[in-house]
Amino acid sequence: MKTNAYAAQNATNPLAPFNFQRREVGQHDVQIEILYCGVCHSDLHTARNEWQNTTYPCVPGHEIVGRVVKVGAHVKKFKEGDTAGVGCMVDSCRTCANCEENLEQFCDNTIWTYNSPDKHLGGMTFGGYSDSIVVDEAFVLQVPKNLNLAAVAPLLCAGITTYSPLRHHNVTKGQKVGVVGLGGLGHIGVKLAKGFGAHVVVFTTSSNKVEDALRLGADEVVNSKNADEMKKHLNSFDFILDTVSAPHDINAYLLLLKRDGNLTQVGVPPEPLSLNVGTLIFGRRSLSGSLIGGIKETQEMLDFCGKHNITSDIELIPIHKINEAYDRLVKSDVKYRFVIDMASLQQA
Ligand code: NAP
Ligand code: ZN
Ligand code: ZN
Repeated sequence: MKTNAYAAQNATNPLAPFNFQRREVGQHDVQIEILYCGVCHSDLHTARNEWQNTTYPCVPGHEIVGRVVKVGAHVKKFKEGDTAGVGCMVDSCRTCANCEENLEQFCDNTIWTYNSPDKHLGGMTFGGYSDSIVVDEAFVLQVPKNLNLAAVAPLLCAGITTYSPLRHHNVTKGQKVGVVGLGGLGHIGVKLAKGFGAHVVVFTTSSNKVEDALRLGADEVVNSKNADEMKKHLNSFDFILDTVSAPHDINAYLLLLKRDGNLTQVGVPPEPLSLNVGTLIFGRRSLSGSLIGGIKETQEMLDFCGKHNITSDIELIPIHKINEAYDRLVKSDVKYRFVIDMASLQQA
């Protein structure tokens, strides 16, 4: 099935039009006409080979929403005409301990939506910067009907990546929670932490985001470059979610945790971060990581967002503006997620 897309052919050239074949719809498969696809900073890290694991050509995109156009004979959850979502994974082994516990993201054989070996066609999987995708229904999500579809797309990665650690660390009403970095992940993290009833403090390096942070629901905003402002929050946080995509000083944030507080890193800077272990030892603080979330929890997150009317703040772009969007992402200049209007692919 011929599919139109945008791809990176190497780490340095701009993304450009590309086409390839999707597999025919199998008995358990759903074919989705892609309407919108969010632009995650992971797409950029991968397109530019910043994690040094990219196979080219690479079609990024793992925040996919669209319309079901065909279903296989054994598909139960979807029918033609439904809206549906696909996030960062399209398959896993389904039998290991992680898969059995609904944590497919930790399976040794997770098939990522792009840049993973494609067991059906050979080569690599291609993501959502394309007009169509075929996915086993077990990895397709139901999208709440009351939400704006373009603004739902970012929930499929940025939403679950912030929801999962907030839930895992039992963030509840009255806790003091920090969100570091007000980008795609960060701004949804603020909305979700507020949705769980926390007192939310945003840490930003961008002075022009202060008003937005408050509008998005933050109770306080700290300019993280100002040492005095940082000092006021020493030893006070229950939980901090760090979404920063570039090298930065995590020790400065660890010092802001209370005794037994936890900082969870979800941002993936390409270079190692340095850790002063004293910040953990004094105060028995902990540092963790978190990787997206399983399919069951992703559905739970979407249902929560439907109930609480939570979506992403987006800038809708035509696909030929993707390279410009990447350049702006690097400059932390996004309010607060680029989403590609896939109808623009026909004109590209
Ligand atoms: P984004 O929209 O570009 O946001 C990142 C934010 O980090 C920026 O808006 C900026 O916020 C801050 N920042 C950027 N450079 C900085 C620097 N040099 N120093 C301090 N702060 C800086 O990116 P995103 O899509 O939210 O993704 C964030 C990171 O999470 C990426 O590394 C991505 O690969 C990763 N990610 C991880 C997972 C996972 O499962 N763990 C899932 C998705 C994405 P301010 O302007 O407010 O300072
Ligand atoms: Zn992502
Ligand atoms: Zn598995």
